[in-house]
Amino acid sequence: MKEDFEFTKNPVSEKWVILSPKRAKRPILTPGTEPPCPFCPGHEDLTPPESYRIGDGQKNKSGWQIRVVPNKYPFAPIHEVIVDSPDHSASFFDHTQERIAKLLKVYKSRFLYWQGKGQVVIFYNYGIAAAASLPHPHAQLAVIPKNVQMDVTRSVTPENIMHESKYFTVFIPQASGWPYEVWFLPKRRGRLFGNVANPEIDNLAELLSKVLKKLEKILGERFPFNFHIYHGGDWYLRLIPRQRIIGGFELATGVYVHSTDPKGAAKQISW
Ligand SMILES: [Zn+2]
Repeated sequence: MKEDFEFTKNPVSEKWVILSPKRAKRPILTPGTEPPCPFCPGHEDLTPPESYRIGDGQKNKSGWQIRVVPNKYPFAPIHEVIVDSPDHSASFFDHTQERIAKLLKVYKSRFLYWQGKGQVVIFYNYGIAAAASLPHPHAQLAVIPKNVQMDVTRSVTPENIMHESKYFTVFIPQASGWPYEVWFLPKRRGRLFGNVANPEIDNLAELLSKVLKKLEKILGERFPFNFHIYHGGDWYLRLIPRQRIIGGFELATGVYVHSTDPKGAAKQISW
């Protein structure tokens, strides 16, 4: 393999995979076994040179509030890490709405910056069960070549609606892949995430923060989760709590079995 990674398609299923042996070298850190954290202030020299920051201070020095750096262990030609906060033990559960809005604005600005280069996938892993390899909270952005077909759910008609705001419908699809997965679908449809307006972002920050707090009451404090922002037209944000482990049947068939009724789940957290 000449590059650090290789995109390859299964000729039968036509599904793509990324081979990225270098990722095996990335440190997997569990809480309590933490050597110097590359995302903490004062350790800026442990990451590749930074691409973007919000806050004060000089490039590659402390003083930042949100910091964007290339991923040291990339699985795509462009793969960035967006560090939420200088606070190592912060999380989306306790970020202020203002910080969440700022983060979403950084995601948007990086999306716009890279959109000409391929399919911009923004995703977040929180907790070991959600595949976070470093505990310091961060999102990631990967730009996937346009020819690589990704198996991503397109936005659906809202059902099991939990809340409607001026800008968003918050709901749980009846055919959810995961228990308590929550969708945030903009009322203005048919746009890329890069076209989202600031009042929408502020509203999304409020809704995301509220839903996480409501889910904590059901799933436990600081439950592991992922979210991603759909890269194509008709964007949405999908939040997936990772309480459940995929079993053999799901791996064999791609058909998910779960015991939570999406209707009931939506009722539990609607407001
Ligand atoms: Zn840290």
